[in-house]
Amino acid sequence: MTAQHPTPAPMDCREFVEIVSEYIEAAMAETKRLRTEAHLAGCAGCRAYLDQMQRTITLLRRVADGDPEAVTHRATLAEAFRASRDSRDTS
Ligand SMILES: [Zn+2]
Repeated sequence: MTAQHPTPAPMDCREFVEIVSEYIEAAMAETKRLRTEAHLAGCAGCRAYLDQMQRTITLLRRVADGDPEAVTHRATLAEAFRASRDSRDTS
């Protein structure tokens, strides 16, 4: 008996956003991963989104693991954000 793979439907941006964390975790089946990569190859917007998500997830994981450097980095970001708002108020 020959296993016939159904032709996968092309992925759209909405589906990509739904499965992006799965893709980053490499927790998806080969077929789905190939569809994701095919979409990424032709979609700059999703490539940028993936890049952003990867950075965020990496940082969050380091914070969850108790990496003091990552915790500091997060605090620094929050402070920088607050500082930029404050300086806008006084201008
Ligand atoms: Zn896309």
